[in-house]
This record gives sequence, structure tokens and C-alpha cells, in this order.
Amino acid sequence: MVTTLSPTPATRLAPPASLDPLVVPERLLLGPGPSNADPSVIAAMNHQPIGHLDAAYLAMMDEVQDLLRYTWQTTNPLTYAVAGTGSAAMEATIANAIEPGDRVLVAVKGYFGHRLVDMAQRYGADVVTINRPWGEAFTLEEITAALEQHRPAVLAIVHAETSTGVRQPLEGVGAACAAHDCLLLVDTVTSMGGVPIFLDDWQVDLAYSCSQKGLSCAPGISPFTMSLRAEAKLARRRQPVANWYLDANLLRKYWGPERVYHHTAPVNLTYALREALRLLAEEGLEARWQRHQHTAAYFWAGLADLGLSCHVEESLRLPTLTTVRVPDGVDAKAVSRQLMADYNIEVGGGLGELGGKVWRIGLMGYNSQPENVDTLLQALGAVLR
Ligand SMILES: *Cc1c(COP(=O)(O)O)cnc(C)c1O
Repeated sequence: MVTTLSPTPATRLAPPASLDPLVVPERLLLGPGPSNADPSVIAAMNHQPIGHLDAAYLAMMDEVQDLLRYTWQTTNPLTYAVAGTGSAAMEATIANAIEPGDRVLVAVKGYFGHRLVDMAQRYGADVVTINRPWGEAFTLEEITAALEQHRPAVLAIVHAETSTGVRQPLEGVGAACAAHDCLLLVDTVTSMGGVPIFLDDWQVDLAYSCSQKGLSCAPGISPFTMSLRAEAKLARRRQPVANWYLDANLLRKYWGPERVYHHTAPVNLTYALREALRLLAEEGLEARWQRHQHTAAYFWAGLADLGLSCHVEESLRLPTLTTVRVPDGVDAKAVSRQLMADYNIEVGGGLGELGGKVWRIGLMGYNSQPENVDTLLQALGAVLR
């Protein structure tokens, strides 16, 4: 006899028509992200989850924190990985640094600067901006003048603007901020693991990144850090952090010695991130930065051979992300579609002001290899012919 577990409603949804087992196509990911994960990172994920308060897991968390400090070159105690993509870690810096009414200066030179403006406004900041055309960077003089004029509590700036391919020089910016009693918040999403970063030396107070670009890990777990100066501002808050999930006061009790449950950690992604960071440490930061620079230079030379040019002047060009100008009369989207259809290669299109004008080519982490450059240049040459 069959027992009825619940009263039958008038209508019931049938299961979807039988599906085949999962098949994931093989792609070469040479867009703005994600990049291909290192095979040993994928292997690391392929284990049973363990409990998020298991002693073995807690030891792994400590290792991840130390590896993140190495990768960013910081001794900040509050350095951990947010459960979410880079945008969640971005929101974590804003939520913890900003109280309603705080003046926040955002240096906007591309798409992700606008996202910082949007987030800061949602947390009640009094946002002011300085702006540069997409493809350029700010000078220290421009930043210092804006600090002088606006007297912000926080300056937010993107180190590696993925929408334009520009590397923002940060030498001296932290000192200027400190002199104006302002915290420096930096997006390092497309620089971490591919471009030199020295958070302590540069006096950066808050930073975030993601797992799926320069670190060549799966998406969904994102580095976050705040300096002692930023912690002091957090301690002085009159109002609690408006985002419970990202509140560093709560998360430090889980990542620190107290080990108080906060949320169920994405355990398998932590395995993956630990492996990605271990591989980075094994290679060494200096060697990794050199590899990215060499691969990018090889790519830029190959582009010139094809008669293509880069949107950004060489001194400001990111080795992790190149914006390639679309020649007159060429349909950028059609080329991208054909690269995918015929070669399984993903590249990015232009965003915002650069829509239709550039392709965005990422050579990040595991993918930063000359063989990938050869594969792409051959395919791109054939498609353009
Ligand atoms: C990709 C990116 C982000 C957002 O990260 P997600 O992981 O996509 O949420 C933020 N800032 C920059 C500069 C990026 O390139």
C-alpha cells in the first residue's frame, strides 16, 4: 500500500523531460574572465566536503589566509576569502568601510569604477567622482588635487580596469590618502596573481579580488583584506555594518581564533583556492609576474604582425588583459562568435564607451602561456582573413 506523504494539490509539476548526464564543452577562455583553472585546482575540488568547523578545514583556512597575505604582500590580520564572486568581496570592502553620510571619492576610468559608485551610493555614501577617458589612468597629481578638494573618508580606485586594459599606477597614492586622513580602497581583481602588487608598501587599506582570473581557480570565493587603519574605522562605527553576510566583525570571529559559526563555508572552493595559491607560491610572485609580462609582450608583438593595434599605451597596459582595437569595417561580435564556433576560444567584447571598438583578451594565471598566444593569433588571423 502506498502512503500519501502530502495532500495532492490540484496541479503538480512533472519533472523536466529526461536530461542527459552533464556534458561541459572544452573551451580556451581568453576573455576577461573566467580563465581556465589549473587542472590540479580542479582535482583539489574533486573531494568530499568536510565540515566547516572540522579541525582539518580550520587549518586549511589558516593556510589560505597566509597565502593571501603573501600574494598581496600584506601583514593585515584581517585577510580572508569571502564566499561569493569578486563583486561580493567588492561589496564587503564598501560595506565595512563606509557609513551613511561618509564622503567617498571614486576615481572612475572604466566600467568597474562605475560599479564602485553604484555600491557606495547604496550604502549611503556621499559619492564624488573624478573621471578619465576609458583607456587612460590618473596621475598622482590629479588624485592628490581631488583629495585636497573633496576631503573624502575613502578613496576607491581600480588597479587593473578590466573594461579598458589599463593598469593604474598606485605608487604614492596611499601616502597621499594617509596625509588626508582618508582610507585607500583598491580593486585588484584583474591584477592579483598577474601584476605586481604591494599592499603594505603602497599603504592600501582595503582590497579585494576574485578567484577566477589571475589565480586560475573556479569562481565563487574571493580574497578580501583590510588594514589596521580600516579596522579602526570599523571599530568607531556608530551603526552596524548594513550587510550581515559580509560584516567583518562577524567574519573575523570565524576566520580568527574564536571559530564562531557564521555561514557554511564553500568548502570545496576553499580546497581549490588553497591549491591555486599554493601553485602561485611554488612558482613565486616574481617569476609569475615575469611570466605574465613575457606572455603579454609576445602577444602584443603578434598582434602587430597581424596589423592589429592595442587601445592602451604600452606603459599602462595590463599584461593580464589587452584591449585590441577592432579594425574599421570589421564586425567585432561576428569575429568573437566565429572564434567560439570554429576554435572553442572565448574572447571578450568591449564594454560601455568601448562597445564594438575593442576585443578584450585575457592571458591570466594558468592561461598565460605562449602556446595559447599562438593558438589565438592563428585563429584570429584566419577569422579576419
Ligand atoms: C571581474 C571584475 C569584478 C567582478 O568580479 P566578479 O567575480 O565577476 O563578481 C570586479 N572588478 C573588476 C576590475 C573585475 O574585472
